[in-house]
Amino acid sequence: MHMKPMTVEPSFRESVDLMFARAARHLNLTPGLEEKIRVCNSTYTVRFGVRLRGEIKTFTGYRSVHSEHMEPVKGGIRFATSVNQDEVEALAALMTYKCALVEAPFGGSKGGLCIDPREWDEHELEQITRRFAYELIKRDLIHPAQNVPAPDMGTGEREMAWIADQYARMNTTDINAKACVTGKPPHAGGIRGRVEATGRGVQFGLREFFRHPGDVARANLSGTLDGKRIVVQGLGNVGYHAAKFLSEEDGARIIAVAERDGVVVNDKGLDIEALKQHLAANRGSLRGFAGGTYHEDGAAALELACDILIPAAMEGVIHTANAARIRAPLILEAANGPITFGADEILRRKGVVIIPDLFANAGGVTVSYFEWVKNLSHIRFGRMQRRAEEARSRLLVEELERLSADKNLGWTLAADFKQNFLEGSDELALVRSGLDDTMRTAYQSMREVWNHRPGVEDLRVAAYIVAVERVAATYRSKGL
Ligand code: GLU
Repeated sequence: MHMKPMTVEPSFRESVDLMFARAARHLNLTPGLEEKIRVCNSTYTVRFGVRLRGEIKTFTGYRSVHSEHMEPVKGGIRFATSVNQDEVEALAALMTYKCALVEAPFGGSKGGLCIDPREWDEHELEQITRRFAYELIKRDLIHPAQNVPAPDMGTGEREMAWIADQYARMNTTDINAKACVTGKPPHAGGIRGRVEATGRGVQFGLREFFRHPGDVARANLSGTLDGKRIVVQGLGNVGYHAAKFLSEEDGARIIAVAERDGVVVNDKGLDIEALKQHLAANRGSLRGFAGGTYHEDGAAALELACDILIPAAMEGVIHTANAARIRAPLILEAANGPITFGADEILRRKGVVIIPDLFANAGGVTVSYFEWVKNLSHIRFGRMQRRAEEARSRLLVEELERLSADKNLGWTLAADFKQNFLEGSDELALVRSGLDDTMRTAYQSMREVWNHRPGVEDLRVAAYIVAVERVAATYRSKGL
């Protein structure tokens, strides 16, 4: 095992603030406004008891609001034993900048509950989740117009459905109750494509990066995603979908996947679906997977030679003690904050290109935004247009076929073209299209600053500059 850093590193929260400060140097903010944007507005801590297994168990939870320049504020709720105030505040700040970068009209927030979800059965978890939600709802820290949580590490559709139901029970006449939380299952007011959204966003973001040969060259790479060798750390919701889509649809080779108990390596490329099934059948253990070679030292996977490294688990996994040994020329931060401020500096000096978390994992909140809008409009996307779109396409196809027959041209439309052309867009297709557009637009705004603004060295600073400028503009328009 590799040692944790010996030097004292700033906390996660401080790390985000230091990254913010690097960007603020390029902006013309008054010191007052700079501080107002940087600080976390409030953090609510709650300790509540739940009667479980014959005794009262006390749990500690947080909901932090970083910035209310736009409301509602948005951000996930994490269930993990490592949750603490510093972490929740750092994640809330990242949400502010992330939403600004992808133009999701929200302020930033984040919540967390100190709990190991694997220690409790489903019914117990439901009691705990509902009780935590009750505490937050009571204080408008869950509310369709003020604060809208979503899934994060350790939570998913199931927990979001409980939270939505808890809110509805406590606000029986709120017609917009469903919009109080996103990431719900489709049958409980969710939207298609939310579960895959963050991984899909990673794919769309990388595709856009590879559309700009000059940017690709800055990472000492060339060509397209096809054949690129990728190492993924963490096969949770984000890592799994990103690895699956990149390998199945873009020709990339996932040569290693690191998880809790080690790493599996296969230079020819891992079968991600098979690996996911293996993990599900073996309580999350990689051991015994037939499609690759297993090693115990998972952290060492970060240091493997590859084209693209995708940390998709926890914050702080690339730190000052291992940064110098990273061999990937391109890192995409699918997790929030996987690279510490100190490590970021080391990697930058080595010329590594980092596609930052603000952008790279913004697919989740982007589709959350679509879900929230769907809930407020009370209608599924595409319901009004889909068949009308199909009817118009059919008119065109029939007219072409009639012309061909009339004039004896002998044209026939290819069967698959006809099918694709005739098919109107359903909700999933529309969500993916909106996400693709969002990721491409956000990348372009970031690369513009990266490539053209004097003194800007890296994509992270560029991302913060774009985001903070937008937040500042909102504050100014409010007269602050
Ligand atoms: N927890 C996710 C994130 O870190 C999603 C947040 C959301 O959808 O509101 O971006």
